[in-house]
Amino acid sequence: MNRKNFTQTILSWYDQGHRDLPWRRTQDPYRIWISEIMLQQTRAETVVSYYERFLARYPTVQDLASAPEEELLKAWEGLGYYSRARSLQKAAKAIVSQYGGQLPADLNMLRALPGVGDYTAGAIASIAFGIPAAAVDGNVERVLCRWDAVTEEVGTPAVRRQIAARAQALVPRDRPGAFANAMMEMGATMCTPKNPKCLLCPVREGCMGFAQGIAQELPHKAKKKAQRVENRAVLLVFCDNRVLIVKRQEKLLGGLFVFPDVLEESDPAKLCRALEEIGVRAAYDEKLGHARHVFTHLIWEMDVHALLADARTEVPGGQWVTRQELAALPLPTAVKAARAFAMERLT
Ligand code: SF4
Repeated sequence: MNRKNFTQTILSWYDQGHRDLPWRRTQDPYRIWISEIMLQQTRAETVVSYYERFLARYPTVQDLASAPEEELLKAWEGLGYYSRARSLQKAAKAIVSQYGGQLPADLNMLRALPGVGDYTAGAIASIAFGIPAAAVDGNVERVLCRWDAVTEEVGTPAVRRQIAARAQALVPRDRPGAFANAMMEMGATMCTPKNPKCLLCPVREGCMGFAQGIAQELPHKAKKKAQRVENRAVLLVFCDNRVLIVKRQEKLLGGLFVFPDVLEESDPAKLCRALEEIGVRAAYDEKLGHARHVFTHLIWEMDVHALLADARTEVPGGQWVTRQELAALPLPTAVKAARAFAMERLT
């Protein structure tokens, strides 16, 4: 092949066989939208098991729009990044109120929905509606950087624009959705971040990154900032065979139930004092163990402590829950280790 027939070569390669993913068996814009949101920060293999279950529970936009938030978060549990589930519901409400329950067949209108960025709008537009729009995610960016041997740092606005324009120029008018899927398939199975399978690659002949022997090193990314570490004392406060949970107020994991915690403190007397500030009188019992959770830019190092409260005092945004209730609550992954400690204590 020469460098001109990249698009056709990729499409023929895709047509010869690709992974059978459930969202590739549908043209339903609702289902495609759900899959694209789930795929934003989660691997396809993981999404497969959640996708069908989620759609069985919320088969229409209306079902999703009217779902109780706690139930929705529970259905999302395990996929992480709960803000995606909240945005999904906000978008579902907008689709019901503004578009009669149908996703709009328009790139800009899709782009305006909560949780839908350039990539997701391009993917839905091309796959569900046949609009010749490019969908550039990290996979596609990597393929194009290597194919064009782009050695500048990706992520800068200029290189972003260059790659977006390149991607757009490659989209075929007759099969934009197949092309979007084919590019994702290339990035996920052939032009992988480590050890790209260049010798098997259908577009190897025209690939400048391969020709120059630099494919593996591309794309060049800015060095990640070191992750900040926060030491947190997680407080499991027990009373009458129940444990206290509170709704988190901070932006990170905001609105989700967690256990009370105190930043950069380990002295038992000070932990008790922190609880007094929210109206709970408790005696320190013991340290139960340690847990660690890694977010994108942040690491929580968590010491988990048990405390025994005098009474089940009412706490704003708080609940004293039984073992069964605790098991059923949608808790963020970050506090699941602490939940396991609590479950061991409750009967
Ligand atoms: S030849 Fe290698 S680097 Fe070039 S597109 Fe194919 S897999 Fe990627």
